[in-house]
Amino acid sequence: MPAPRDRDRLGIPLPPQGAVRVTDDGPVEGANRGRPIFRVRGTYALRLGRMVTIPILLAGGLAAGPLARAVTVSQVLAAAAAAAAVALLVGRAIRDDRCSEPRCGARLPAEADVCPRCGGTIAGTIDHPHDRLEALERLERRPPPDGGADRAPRG
Ligand SMILES: [Zn+2]
Repeated sequence: MPAPRDRDRLGIPLPPQGAVRVTDDGPVEGANRGRPIFRVRGTYALRLGRMVTIPILLAGGLAAGPLARAVTVSQVLAAAAAAAAVALLVGRAIRDDRCSEPRCGARLPAEADVCPRCGGTIAGTIDHPHDRLEALERLERRPPPDGGADRAPRG
């Protein structure tokens, strides 16, 4: 793309604002139908930890603040730490698998073969969303069950 000064010299008009958008934001629902996606193994630990800790810190902050002084800051921190520890322990036992697609991230039930949101076919399980592309490459390298007779050329 020519620099702005070259544009003027060459008489190239600027594109209208917002006319050229290189984004892939469409509806996520069904966007990956027929395509492989991965199950990102997860638990509820962090989610539950945040769910209990943040309200305790907020309410504790008010209760320990200059207007109330009902509790001390160290009591609030101790309560938040105790709640976080319990939440992490309990949350580790609750599975929370997610769709690997960055735009989707839907919760995947244990028995699901297909993502309920984007429609992608669950092709495997990975530990982190960042492992998605590597897992996809592994999947594409693996010869199909029929010996690769109808393997399409890469493109
Ligand atoms: Zn999905």
